[in-house]
Amino acid sequence: MIIDCHGHYTTAPAALEIWRKRQIDSLDNPAIGPKAGDLRISDDELRESIEHNQLRLMRARGLDLTIFSPRASFMAHHVGNFETSSTWASICNELCHRVAGLFPQQFIGAAMLPQSPGVAPETCIPELVRCVEDYGFVAINLNPDPSGGHWTAPPLSDRSWYPIYEKMVDYDIPAMIHVSTSCNACFHTTGAHYLNADTTAFMQCLTSDLFKDFPTLRFVIPHGGGAVPYHWGRFRGLAQELKKPLLQDHLLNNIFFDTCVYHQPGIDLLTRVIPVFNTLFASEMIGAVRGVDPETGFHFDDTRRYIDAASTLTEQDRHQIYEGNARRVYPRLDAALKAQGR
Ligand SMILES: [Zn+2]
Repeated sequence: MIIDCHGHYTTAPAALEIWRKRQIDSLDNPAIGPKAGDLRISDDELRESIEHNQLRLMRARGLDLTIFSPRASFMAHHVGNFETSSTWASICNELCHRVAGLFPQQFIGAAMLPQSPGVAPETCIPELVRCVEDYGFVAINLNPDPSGGHWTAPPLSDRSWYPIYEKMVDYDIPAMIHVSTSCNACFHTTGAHYLNADTTAFMQCLTSDLFKDFPTLRFVIPHGGGAVPYHWGRFRGLAQELKKPLLQDHLLNNIFFDTCVYHQPGIDLLTRVIPVFNTLFASEMIGAVRGVDPETGFHFDDTRRYIDAASTLTEQDRHQIYEGNARRVYPRLDAALKAQGR
């Protein structure tokens, strides 16, 4: 099997965006804003939005299943207050749940959380519980910067995040560390903010003892880990100076990287530097980079080609990256697949 651990519902029917615009337009007077029930999207519309997009590309590329979460740049946790995020997260998660219900062989959900700047992360727990227990979601996306590029939240090692981690450990679900849109003009959302956040989250973990407190907590750092694999020597050296254990022991039982790196040399580096055990296949399709690479003639985000071509990987390594690691890091995914006889 080939499991893509990183896909977003970027192709939702236009009614969703229209609803969100109305919500934002009425932030000053939510009483006149839209209710969750005002959004009506039929199953046929959902089906069409998937079949012609993600599913078409999954079939063309030979991908079997995608862990599917709401569109990351649309989470926009900086907008409004907790109530704003709460209604929005609930709507977006429900749509992913419905997609997974329409295509149970090809999609399984991961939740966005109703985070809001300055609001305690524990307020997200009811939505997390609902998504795991009622929807069968297998992971969450956790935004380390709900401010959208101003980094006003404490680092991921801060105890204010612990209630989320306790719930994750209870449910044995991982979190993909994933920021949303940047509202800081210095940081382009997908070209800078995403990659900065991946690197920042890794360093927050490195300087802390978070995984001593939560030995089974698991983070997936997307986009190939930002700058982390490329600068692995720097991180090893910093850990040494900080008197931390070897990164292998300090972080690599808990942190995993995806393969959303959109060229062969990047994947070659990733697979040489980061252990196979810590590498999960993903494409983030249909996402930030949708074009065709003129150097190869294939889509930048057709990441399977790079894994297939990575010369240092054995067939066993590829099996781990495509399937084995995902089943281990997402035990609820493994259980759901087994329940389907897969
Ligand atoms: Zn993403």
